[in-house]
Amino acid sequence: MKKLLSVVLVAALGASLLVCAGCTQQKSDLVMATNAEFPPYEYHGDDGSIIGIDAEIAQAIADEMGRNLVIEDMNFDSILAAVQSGKADMGVAGMTITEDRLESVDFSTPYATAAQVIIVKEGSDIQTPDDLAGRTIGVQLGTTGDIYADDIEDATIERFNKGFEAVQALTQDKVDAVIIDNEPAKVFVAQNDGIKIIDEAFTYEEYAIAIKKGNTDLLNDVNAAIAKLQESGELQKIVDKYITAE
Ligand code: GLN
Repeated sequence: MKKLLSVVLVAALGASLLVCAGCTQQKSDLVMATNAEFPPYEYHGDDGSIIGIDAEIAQAIADEMGRNLVIEDMNFDSILAAVQSGKADMGVAGMTITEDRLESVDFSTPYATAAQVIIVKEGSDIQTPDDLAGRTIGVQLGTTGDIYADDIEDATIERFNKGFEAVQALTQDKVDAVIIDNEPAKVFVAQNDGIKIIDEAFTYEEYAIAIKKGNTDLLNDVNAAIAKLQESGELQKIVDKYITAE
């Protein structure tokens, strides 16, 4: 009887080992759509790989879910379509929750707060958001900066695929100001002489992960992972690695 029991136990153990060997190999992909032109949230590291706060948060979420993170880099204005069509499971791109976007996708709980700020050349006469009326403004196509610039009276808007191209246009005097998210703005200002961020922020917003409407299982899993990462302090640790407190 004893012998029989141990045979059964060994067989059960063997079967569970087999199952486990299979499950590590068969981790399903969790595809993240992003636009890796948005430091410090997502950008290309020295070796060309995509790094940054969002890349690490997404990796931590994938780890929580036992899935294999795959990053798809694309234009910012293609991300929502990729999520809607199922080409990507989630959009993680410093993406601000807006009413408009909520019509086409669901958003996770927010994981960061941000602001749209204005970058100008040092010595510019643009000192507040009101001074933008009638000026030429550079933005990244399809971003909240683009949306807000649209409302500025008599402004001419130049749209670029990459935020840093808008900043380049500013340093080359092709635009008078750039409206962009605060953290990338700090990175771009640090990389270029003669430009600065004006004191008054344009808007305040929240970043969240975009998920296909109706995919509640994934939404719940992502929200549970975010909550866990917030409670454990892991999320803050990731942020602190990329953003040094002032
Ligand atoms: N937060 C901005 C938006 O959602 C910009 C994001 C980005 O350029 N990656 O539109």
